[in-house]
Amino acid sequence: MDDKRPTGWDTRAEAVSFFGFTDFPTVKRRGSIVLTHGEGPYVFDTEGNRYLDANSGLWNMVAGFDHPGLISAAQDAYARFPGYHAFFGRMSDQTVMLSERLIELAPFERGRVFYTNSGSEANDTLVKMLWFLGRAEGKPERKKILTRKNGYHGVTVVSASMTGKPYNEVFGLPLPGFVHLTCPHYWREGMAGESEAEFTQRLARELEETIAAEGADTIAAFVAEPVLGAGGVVPPPEGYFQAIQPILKRHGIPLVSDEVICGFGRTGTIWGCDTYGVVPDAIISSKALTAGFFPMGAVILGPELADRMQAAAEAIEEFPHGFTASGHPVGCAIALAAIDLIVEGGLIDKVREGAPRLEAKLAEVADRPNIGELRGIGYMWALEAVADKATKAPFPSELSVSERIANACTDEGLICRPLGQSIVLCPAFTLTDAEMDEMCAKLSTALDKVF
Ligand code: PLP
Repeated sequence: MDDKRPTGWDTRAEAVSFFGFTDFPTVKRRGSIVLTHGEGPYVFDTEGNRYLDANSGLWNMVAGFDHPGLISAAQDAYARFPGYHAFFGRMSDQTVMLSERLIELAPFERGRVFYTNSGSEANDTLVKMLWFLGRAEGKPERKKILTRKNGYHGVTVVSASMTGKPYNEVFGLPLPGFVHLTCPHYWREGMAGESEAEFTQRLARELEETIAAEGADTIAAFVAEPVLGAGGVVPPPEGYFQAIQPILKRHGIPLVSDEVICGFGRTGTIWGCDTYGVVPDAIISSKALTAGFFPMGAVILGPELADRMQAAAEAIEEFPHGFTASGHPVGCAIALAAIDLIVEGGLIDKVREGAPRLEAKLAEVADRPNIGELRGIGYMWALEAVADKATKAPFPSELSVSERIANACTDEGLICRPLGQSIVLCPAFTLTDAEMDEMCAKLSTALDKVF
């Protein structure tokens, strides 16, 4: 570390940066944080402060910030072939190997993969594929996309339209044709006296009625995260996917699993859809796909969509879509190394084995009057703050309670994400027991200070 680094990095950052997804009043009051490096699950700032990152970057740095195996995979890949596209009938050998590996791991006996640089672009690509397919199959009206309120699918114009967050209204989004169903959050959305199974049935009826109202022939897909991530870590209610998939099948509507957060171990299985026993028609992947060491996303089509897309593209003679860095050989080599680490290297086992301990420790932290619900699975958890535990009444939004909790955590040297009224923890899979204890202790101290 260069300890002669000029100070005032926060002022410099604020002078030249336009911050996305940032609470401007907080930055005005507290200043920004400029980071220099990471070690394991910790990051360090220009002032020498160390933070345990309970966010693992943005759910993606699942092997920590300095994994030697991933660093050397990246170094070797750069030395061998520093970049190439996947167009015009050409692609790198690493790209082919990664696609083979993804299809082997997907719950499909065969399929096809298309690469992007991010999860948002992967969702955009999926929608363009479905619109392309609709036109090629003589059904250009088959364009609508069904998602859920509070679901998060990205920031591009189309993926933000898929996202069911009211903040996108500032952009005049969603675009027409993006339909958002009820958020499958039993604790918040369940009605008085309604069991979880009855809630699921109500959501299934809503889906059936929406398909009838919109017209099955106008709907291109239903896209869902197995567990809503940026919506505040919402696992589905009992039997959810088992109730909705038959309805979609009956109407010929593909079910797409947005696995950008859940994929590659976050829920304790390779895919979130595996955890919930459902085989989708396509998978959207990113984040842990490269353990955060390279920006990359992928659309993995299952057999039926893959065959139809291939037939449509051959008939039209081209699928005119892709990014300069689609299937980047370095990204693919890193992904192959990350997948080995997660699947064979024991990281997924660590999530499965560590999850009950994490849940028990968080339950102790959450046992206080102003935490209404602890929810999650694997290594993705949220604590929802409430003004009144009995009525579940939220704090007035202007108090921004989760922002205050997150700031108190930062003061303790812990990075947590405020999302709505919840505070979210999604640590690296490499977290040791001691680091898990430190994370929970710091969160507890921060909550003591806020409440
Ligand atoms: N889909 C889901 C479920 C996500 O959580 C995210 C990002 O958090 C995205 C898509 C968008 O991915 P990206 O930020 O890489 O564009």
